[in-house]
Amino acid sequence: MSNRQTKTDVILIGAGIMSATLGSLLKELVPDWEITVLERRDTAGEESSNEWNNAGTGHSSLCELNYTVEQPDGSIDISKAVKVNEEFQLSKQFWSYLVKSSLIRNPRDFIVPVPHMSFVQGEQDVTFLKKRYEALSNNPLFQGMEFSNDPEKLKEWIPLMMQDRVINNPIAATKIDSGTDVNFGALTRILFDQLKSSNVDIKFKQNVDDIKRTSDGSWELKVRNVDSNTVERHTAKFVFIGGGGGSLHLLQKSGIPEGKGIGGFPVSGLFMVCKNPEVVAKHRAKVYGQAAIGAPPMSVPHLDTRVIDEKESLFFGPFAGFSPKFLKYGSMFDLITSVKPHNLVTMLSAGVKNVSLTTYLIKQVMLSKEKRMEALQEFVPNAKAEDWELVLAGQRVQIIKDTAAGKGTLQFGTEVISAADGSIAALLGASPGASTAVSVMLEILNKCFPQHIKEWEPKIKEMIPSYGVSMLTDPELIREIQASTAQTLGLSGEKQAMPQ
Ligand SMILES: Cc1cc2nc3c(=O)[nH]c(=O)nc-3n(C[C@H](O)[C@H](O)[C@H](O)COP(=O)(O)OP(=O)(O)OC[C@H]3O[C@@H](n4cnc5c(N)ncnc54)[C@H](O)[C@@H]3O)c2cc1C
Repeated sequence: MSNRQTKTDVILIGAGIMSATLGSLLKELVPDWEITVLERRDTAGEESSNEWNNAGTGHSSLCELNYTVEQPDGSIDISKAVKVNEEFQLSKQFWSYLVKSSLIRNPRDFIVPVPHMSFVQGEQDVTFLKKRYEALSNNPLFQGMEFSNDPEKLKEWIPLMMQDRVINNPIAATKIDSGTDVNFGALTRILFDQLKSSNVDIKFKQNVDDIKRTSDGSWELKVRNVDSNTVERHTAKFVFIGGGGGSLHLLQKSGIPEGKGIGGFPVSGLFMVCKNPEVVAKHRAKVYGQAAIGAPPMSVPHLDTRVIDEKESLFFGPFAGFSPKFLKYGSMFDLITSVKPHNLVTMLSAGVKNVSLTTYLIKQVMLSKEKRMEALQEFVPNAKAEDWELVLAGQRVQIIKDTAAGKGTLQFGTEVISAADGSIAALLGASPGASTAVSVMLEILNKCFPQHIKEWEPKIKEMIPSYGVSMLTDPELIREIQASTAQTLGLSGEKQAMPQ
């Protein structure tokens, strides 16, 4: 046991994309604040943010059908789609600022253009997709979207998916070229390297075991070296709990009243990955389908071109599943130890309400390779088992809380939970995820630093020109921002060669 103690202005727990983004924003806003990062793994971005643990979709609602909901009167509600798109525009603006300031050397290292497509089969879904297309394509944020129900056109767009396809039902797709594939793992590492060179103290193999408030209102963290088991105490005026799936336990340890009554439900993920260059060369898009009945929104099947370390591969999935771990490298006791007297009733209610979801997830875990191949063959009719391997993805911990919809309601979004005095904040949930990191971290700055936000505003606007304005009220601003971020991030100008 060591008695070493340190004091800093800010501690970021966890070296994932969220802490990387908050650290990078703070370094630009207040360069002289001392920041320490505490991470239990050996390197940055090993959990959900890692490129093999998520799908790398720059979520902007260009293809995800669950962000546009059909209303009882048959109209399509696009409000969620617009919100997610605007949030991704904030991320692209901040990344562009970092590129222009030479804080990111080459955007190609983490972002590439990949068309985003939706693909549906059957009369009902084709009608829905057409209506969705009509509702979105008039909106300046979704300009350039195309719709087709012509199999010949679809052969041009998605040759691998159309090869050997038996067409008994109507089929249709939408396509938009401004989609992206983002390597969030690479981006996380790039941002932490940059922070390290700006004197941010990044400590790996350090597990935060406990968090306590001190008499002067700061936070003292008990931190254990995972190799030597020695313990140190680190104190800070502000703590961000960016532990991904590990955040709920840490929030509970802080004891803040805002964290009471909240539980977590872990959903694991698996991808089928194809690295066979002949197959990979026949597909260049992220193609999202409809979720199966009873499936949670995060298990919408999709076939994605991924670009990792300059090599292309295809990901299919994710297949959701159940594991009691809250992190991929977590403990089998994570779920049970997250049940506390204050969230017991909420958790039990959620358990009763979500029996069918749990059953669905357990069945998904038990799927044989043949069954998974059948799901893949809905997308790639002639897929061969030898070309596809299974890869375990990250864990997502969905928030459970009491809402107007009832006790123990499962939430599929993200939520910032912060203390009333703004001295500590945690991020729970995982969707839309890494794509919206900048928007979520701006929310934290607003909630936790209200005394500074006015003085920071000019700098925030320099980094993120659309900060504080709804882009939809200013179509000219949308055009300007989209053109300039596309240029800086290398997302415009070239059309990727389509496979033959
Ligand atoms: C299957 C799947 C697919 C996804 N697809 C997409 C997608 O296509 N697009 C998208 O935008 N998002 C996607 N996401 C979501 C996205 O990956 C996450 O929202 C994002 O990576 C979360 O980042 P984070 O920094 O909060 O957490 P993480 O990346 O999980 O980082 C948390 C870090 O905290 C550390 N930690 C935890 N507890 C402690 C502790 N006690 N002490 C010290 N360190 C600790 C962990 O080791 C970890 O390094 C997907 C997620 C999954 C699982």
